[in-house]
Amino acid sequence: MNTASILPFIEPLKSASNLVIVTHKNPDGDAIGSSLGILLLLEKYGVKAHVVVEDELPYFLHFLPRSQDVIIYNSDPRRVQELISSASFIICTDFSQLNRCGKLEPFVRQSSAPRILFDHHPEPDLASFQAVYHDVTASSTSELIAIFASSFFTDVPITTDWATCIYTGMVTDTGCFRFSLRPQTFQIAANLLQSNIPVQQIITQIFDSYSFQRIQLTGFVLQNKLRYLPEYRTAYFSLSETEMMPFNPRRGDTEGLVNHTLSIEGVVLGVFFNQKPDDTIRISFRSKGAFACNDIASKFFNGGGHRNASGGQYAGTIEEAIEYFLKVLPQYKDQLISLSL
Ligand code: 5GP
Ligand code: MN
Repeated sequence: MNTASILPFIEPLKSASNLVIVTHKNPDGDAIGSSLGILLLLEKYGVKAHVVVEDELPYFLHFLPRSQDVIIYNSDPRRVQELISSASFIICTDFSQLNRCGKLEPFVRQSSAPRILFDHHPEPDLASFQAVYHDVTASSTSELIAIFASSFFTDVPITTDWATCIYTGMVTDTGCFRFSLRPQTFQIAANLLQSNIPVQQIITQIFDSYSFQRIQLTGFVLQNKLRYLPEYRTAYFSLSETEMMPFNPRRGDTEGLVNHTLSIEGVVLGVFFNQKPDDTIRISFRSKGAFACNDIASKFFNGGGHRNASGGQYAGTIEEAIEYFLKVLPQYKDQLISLSL
């Protein structure tokens, strides 16, 4: 990892005032975990900092220490706008392109404050940031924050709250230590475990706090919506607003649903087409092994992400999105069929 660009900012960060931490819309455990991780770190130096995000946190992240202090743009747009425009530094976490912070993007761009990126997604937009702390081999942005802290903030004692945030980010992005692993991931996790974190509570909150209706929604999807294309080693499903309504979904209730596609033996690519309240179609891609689903997301669905977990969008109906996807799929047939798992 190249740390050169961040070095001149280390000391100024420790004495900064009015610092803002921005993460991506539709935030997940890594986005919030890494953002709160930086917040807690900088507060030890007396830095006044705020975490801001476009939309509400999913219910299963409400247990995170200080999550109630995250300021939601959709609830208080003026406050977020003011915080960003008066910020002396803007720290961006867990995204590589500024458009991922949604409605906050124009305010972040207008600000003259230096922008510092902490991220692990491929191909960061280097031109949009004054400093970049980036490593695509890190399991999560939270893992990067742990490395950052142990490199430059050694005088800050590790607290249980901080370790809880970082561990939550790592658990989220690794699917409970199943993906994106490297030896360092476990070394860092082992250190965090020494800080008395509520490991069982974290796992229960993230993976075992579904509502009864969410489980029924899963049943509905698997029984009625899942399509399997063995000739492409692909499985996909869609959900419209109307289909979801009877299950009274909460924000975050479709999180992780797409992973069921990959549980089928031999399936390499899994896709979920989800109609959002604003009628846009959000698409989640997941893949196994060397198959890069982010190639499909970025080339055809105006999105991107990691090799094995990516997303995009489509302007049109769900049926059109699926039709378009099925037209694109044959281009990937050879790759999908030849992949050894
Ligand atoms: P999910 O399917 O969980 O919404 O997203 C999986 C991953 O894909 C995210 O962690 C993020 O890295 C990436 N991703 C999702 N949507 C987009 C998008 O619209 N643009 C880009 N660049 N990445 C996305
Ligand atoms: Mn992440």
